Amino acid sequence: MIITEQKSGEDLFALLGSARRVVLLGCSECATICKTGGTEQLLEFEKKLKTRGLEVSARCVLNPACNAQVVKKALKGIREELAGADAIVSFSCGDGTQTVAKLVGQMEHTFHIPVYPGNDTLFLGETTRAGEYVEACRACGRCELGWTGGICPVTCCAKGLLNGPCGGAKGRQCEVNADEECVWLRICDRLAAIGQLDNLLEIRPPRDYLKNVHPRRHVLESRRSADRLKEARAKEGQDAK
Ligand code: SF4
Ligand code: SF4
Repeated sequence: MIITEQKSGEDLFALLGSARRVVLLGCSECATICKTGGTEQLLEFEKKLKTRGLEVSARCVLNPACNAQVVKKALKGIREELAGADAIVSFSCGDGTQTVAKLVGQMEHTFHIPVYPGNDTLFLGETTRAGEYVEACRACGRCELGWTGGICPVTCCAKGLLNGPCGGAKGRQCEVNADEECVWLRICDRLAAIGQLDNLLEIRPPRDYLKNVHPRRHVLESRRSADRLKEARAKEGQDAK
């Protein structure tokens, strides 16, 4: 899940500047679970805006905000409300907000409206209990969990070591982040428990940072096949003329 935290009211009012009419967008997925972009949070922010004399011309929880087709349809559905808006605030993750901003910038009736992030995007994480999240994955592009007993050293070791431990742990605590147990000790324990301690005898090569060049793009093979078919049909059509 993508973990987000709502920006402070002051930060948001600073972004809104002199805007008077505002559209609020949320997201039905991660931001709703994190309580940063569901209906309840949009209503709460609407109340704050009203106390400062601002008007909310539309409120919509996108399902979800990172799906361009969904966002496009939703923006068309609130076309009239968007016409007089001075700003849009997107209470989703940075991905959702960029999806909204890109489409708003492309559509004739909205291209002049600024889109502001309502949330700060923190990390990809796991829910440990209601309202508590811990970072779990940096989306590094080459998953190492297969030989580490399912524990991520890239994310959970303060130095991101692939050949740990560094030797600096104090007791079982990390020398850099004393709040956390040294992840390499956890990895050793887990590998011992599943009979795979020998995995540590192999020296791992440095991570391939070419797999982590941004922005990354991923296209499914089914999408490529569909595109190839479309191109072939278009070519056949041209040849027939
Ligand atoms: S190695 Fe860690 S950061 Fe990389 S994909 Fe696997 S879980 Fe994510
Ligand atoms: S003490 Fe453990 S978790 Fe901390 S930096 Fe060293 S190897 Fe990584």
